[in-house]
Amino acid sequence: MRRLWIDTVGCQMNVLDSELVVAALRRRGWQLAGSPAEADAVFYNTCSVRQHAEDKVYSALGRVRQEKEKRPGLVVGVLGCMAQKDQQLVRSRAPWVDLVVGPGQLHRVPALLEGVLAGSGPQIEVSLDRSAGSRELVAESFESYDPDRDAAMRPTPFQAFVRTQTGCDKFCAFCVVPRVRGPEQARPPAAILAEARKLVDEGCREITLIGQTVNSYRWSDGGRTTRLADLLVDLDAVDGLDRIRFVTNYPRDMTDGLIAAVRDLPKVCHYLHVPAQHGSDAVLKRMKRGYTIGEYLEMHARLTEAIPHAAVTSDFIVGFCGETDEEFEPTLELVERLKFKNSFIFKYSPRPGTKAFDRQPDDVPEPVKKARHKALLEAQSAASLAGNLPFVGTRQRVLVEGISRRDEKRAGVDGETDEIPQLSGRTMCDRIVVFDAPRRLVGRIVDVDVLAAGPWAMSGVLAETAAGGTSPSFAEAGPDPVLHAISLSAVDRPGREHGDA
Ligand code: SAH
Repeated sequence: MRRLWIDTVGCQMNVLDSELVVAALRRRGWQLAGSPAEADAVFYNTCSVRQHAEDKVYSALGRVRQEKEKRPGLVVGVLGCMAQKDQQLVRSRAPWVDLVVGPGQLHRVPALLEGVLAGSGPQIEVSLDRSAGSRELVAESFESYDPDRDAAMRPTPFQAFVRTQTGCDKFCAFCVVPRVRGPEQARPPAAILAEARKLVDEGCREITLIGQTVNSYRWSDGGRTTRLADLLVDLDAVDGLDRIRFVTNYPRDMTDGLIAAVRDLPKVCHYLHVPAQHGSDAVLKRMKRGYTIGEYLEMHARLTEAIPHAAVTSDFIVGFCGETDEEFEPTLELVERLKFKNSFIFKYSPRPGTKAFDRQPDDVPEPVKKARHKALLEAQSAASLAGNLPFVGTRQRVLVEGISRRDEKRAGVDGETDEIPQLSGRTMCDRIVVFDAPRRLVGRIVDVDVLAAGPWAMSGVLAETAAGGTSPSFAEAGPDPVLHAISLSAVDRPGREHGDA
């Protein structure tokens, strides 16, 4: 039996890709290793969205080199976006790498790995560059990777990502994703639904649909067009499924039809990640985002009018090419005005192969980027706290995800002890709630009385009456503004779905 170690950085797509690669290899007799030192193959599933993510992988490759020197039979693989972007460059920087496989070629991993083990030398398998041919030709070279799932390979068996589409055609000036993940290609609705049903049969209760711009989903067949709202209607009808989420949304594709579906379908979470990226029209234009702040505000108003307690979250880039103090100011104001539930804030990182890299100088000095990052983070923390406080004193339905980060780190609660751990879960609006309860509740939906709130999480106690309740009526109880509010120092940090700045 052979053992695999896989390290995954980056977005949800990568988490899903790693799950699928591991599942495919398990079917061929591979098992997961406890550490790289015990592994016969070490894979890095990589991200190219910022330089920092690539640097981390190259330094990990530097460390694995020593292991490879001790054990020349060790197979080292670089998968995903950096493989597609750097191609041969990966091996010229790290010649001890045996496998370089882009995100559109992951189905080839088992065969390529066998090839390396059989002695056929380094293997590189990537898709075509976007300029290499017609859209159809390039799209064909990025194959959707949707093999059978393996519940044991998910971080939690009761939650799963389901891909709605691969690639991206938005071409924001800063973003490398259209280059490394190829043209946008929708999966057929029937395949998405079949996968969801299978996951539910395996015990999955929450499904998160993922696409670069998931709300641009569009599938035409026999004169009928299916959009995201239609997919949500069909998924909502799947027995045994409790929660449906979807990320990431493009502001211009937030249609009234989609908003109505989110409002009306009981299983769909009232949580919408709709990155604004910036608060200044001039910068949005340089970013080629395709909307103005006026249009974003109009979309936000339609959304919150339909679903007043919806949790809206955003991404922001600070220090984009040419950003002045005057241009940065409206980003701060936007966060203060719209009070996003939370935002992922990134310092601009120039990416080869993007329009900004070719045509706009990265001219905001690093200390300025840092200062703006800090200022925006502070504004967002205040907004997050203000958004959480009104929930103090309310009862919330929480899907219990696992042991809280605090107790995960603390010695003693892990393993066989009888101590009651602190658990962590999420409300229908994606708010994190921590509370002490037996670990057997992980994977269940419980009622929690919220007692305190911080910017990143709320804390509470298991409601006495409904522990383990599983009623499917999930409308989040609206906050009661007259209840007293206790501020709590950060008890937990939100998941960093997009990695660190
Ligand atoms: N389409 C997906 C993935 C984009 S990457 C989505 O919208 O979530 C996730 C976030 O990273 C983007 O929203 C953006 O805020 C940030 N990002 C993308 N390219 C970047 C760059 N070159 N520098 C800094 N941040 C970037």
